[in-house]
Amino acid sequence: MKIALIAHDKKKAEIIELAKKYRDVLAEHELFATGTTGTMVMGETKLDIHRLKSGPLGGDQQIGAMLANGELDLIIFLRDPLTAQPHEPDVSALLRLCDVQKIPLATNVSSGTIMLEALKNKTFFGLVK
Ligand code: PGA
Repeated sequence: MKIALIAHDKKKAEIIELAKKYRDVLAEHELFATGTTGTMVMGETKLDIHRLKSGPLGGDQQIGAMLANGELDLIIFLRDPLTAQPHEPDVSALLRLCDVQKIPLATNVSSGTIMLEALKNKTFFGLVK
């Protein structure tokens, strides 16, 4: 499965903790991330992650393009709902494309945990077409 990890700056610590906790689960999949998130998660977990550009520099749009091409299966995007983001239009576009493509999307650490538990327990049966 192709999984994308993204976290806004104030959520970086949470995505690192999540990736550490589910390292063995994530290691079974092909991982993608926006630039800074990818660098930080790789540094802490030694997971192999394809890094795209940093979110504000186009990384969210790159993830969006992958979604449009049907190249991602699951997204964990820990958003900061309390801080204005300069690339808010890119963020909205990414979220919209998840719904267009019916791709599972977790936007906070609790829903991300549910997704990774489902992967761990092999109770995630893929996408609804
Ligand atoms: P970053 O981008 O991982 O490069 O910080 C995340 C984002 O803000 O979308």
